[in-house]
Amino acid sequence: MTLSVAIIGSGPSGFYTAESLMRTIDDVEIDIIEKLPTPYGLIRGGVAPDHAKTKNIARTYEKTARDPRVRYYGNVTLGADIGLEALRGIYDAVVLATGAAVDRPLGIPGDGKAGVLGVAAFVGWYNGHPDFRDLDPPLDTQAVAVIGVGNVAVDVARVLTKTPNEMAATDLTDYAAAAIHAAPIRDVYMFGRRAPHHAKFSNVELREMGQLEDSAPVLDPAELTPDVPEDFAATLSDRDLRMTRRNLATLHDFAAMEPAGRTKRVHFRFYASPVEILGGDRVEGIRMERTRIEGGRAVGTGETFDIACRLVIPAIGYYSEPVDGVPFESGRSRNRDGRIEPGLYAVGWIKRGPSGVIGSNKPDGTAAAQQIVEDCGAGAGKPGRAALDNHLQANNIRVVSFDDWKRIEVAEESAAAPPAPRRKFGRVPEMLAVLD
Ligand code: NAP
Repeated sequence: MTLSVAIIGSGPSGFYTAESLMRTIDDVEIDIIEKLPTPYGLIRGGVAPDHAKTKNIARTYEKTARDPRVRYYGNVTLGADIGLEALRGIYDAVVLATGAAVDRPLGIPGDGKAGVLGVAAFVGWYNGHPDFRDLDPPLDTQAVAVIGVGNVAVDVARVLTKTPNEMAATDLTDYAAAAIHAAPIRDVYMFGRRAPHHAKFSNVELREMGQLEDSAPVLDPAELTPDVPEDFAATLSDRDLRMTRRNLATLHDFAAMEPAGRTKRVHFRFYASPVEILGGDRVEGIRMERTRIEGGRAVGTGETFDIACRLVIPAIGYYSEPVDGVPFESGRSRNRDGRIEPGLYAVGWIKRGPSGVIGSNKPDGTAAAQQIVEDCGAGAGKPGRAALDNHLQANNIRVVSFDDWKRIEVAEESAAAPPAPRRKFGRVPEMLAVLD
């Protein structure tokens, strides 16, 4: 008997699950179902365009996709093209690897005004995700407020302030490059509601902010402690403590840095929590409340200050998109170490929320593979792929195969203006046109 598994989503968690399954059981048939024609989830749509090295992991995923036991079904949407119940009827196991694509709302007065853009939408736009191709972010502003001090906030601040020269060898979409580089942006404010040592940046990403051609970090040294406070240090693992110390040292370096002719500024502001978006229909500013820390939490002091800006980008985390028939809580699927129920599993951010780096998805794949084998053994003889093919054919659904994707990729690479590695298509019909 062949164990048949459908994995929904072709990002890192989906591919690590496929890899683990193939290591765990020989006789397995794995179908990776992806709503976009293009694979790799956040590797293509989330990782910053100037972080090419991070994207190299796609080569490993490609090897998995090329294994004869695996088939890629691009351009097939769960729900619209085939329902979860139908999939569960034809596969021994279904794994949800759909990530967390919905921006967490800021939840303050005025956050519905034009000019407040969730970071998933903004990053999706500059990275060529078709859902956000028509976002048209209002970049006609000298100042941008980014809420949150994690790696995504840093990505956005960097992409907004790097020069055309710095972005030339990246896969930033051409329409986003044109819009960003024509924008009058001079000041990007990054607001952390807690202390500098609570910031979630990785140190490499943070240090990069001090090495930009035309943008300098700005920081009030009065917000920095000489070292990580002992009570907080005691809550951290050795590794996290080392990272936090490095971040603090980098922030001290930033505070001492001379802007040296650079025209743009990234202002790191801590102890500041957003309380209101100001303006009429369109954002004209943001009101921040100064905070103090009590028991590790930010508590408002009642003292506020305003920053004039016409664009606010909350980078405060994501929710997973609900899936019909799957219990959800706190923005992700309800599961026990990934098992939603026997036969149905979650991996990656829909399993554990939007945290961790790409490699953090590996253990999810391992756990899912073990649970699938525990629950489903060698399979119950369900038809799997053959039934999926019948369903898709009967419903006239145009499937993009992995070879099709490679043709799209070649077209993107040949359309690139060197030194850019590719010129991404931002719309699905443009991708499909390559195949016609
Ligand atoms: P994150 O690391 O969790 O950072 C979220 C930030 O938003 C935190 O500073 C958080 O502050 C703040 N925040 C949350 N709710 C808020 C609110 N209501 N008001 C004000 N601030 C609020 O999340 P992320 O930056 O979205 O990144 C997601 C994951 O992807 C992370 O694990 C990250 O490391 C990873 N990632 C990695 C890379 C890379 O390695 N280069 C790049 C991008 C993303 P509190 O701490 O006070 O909650």
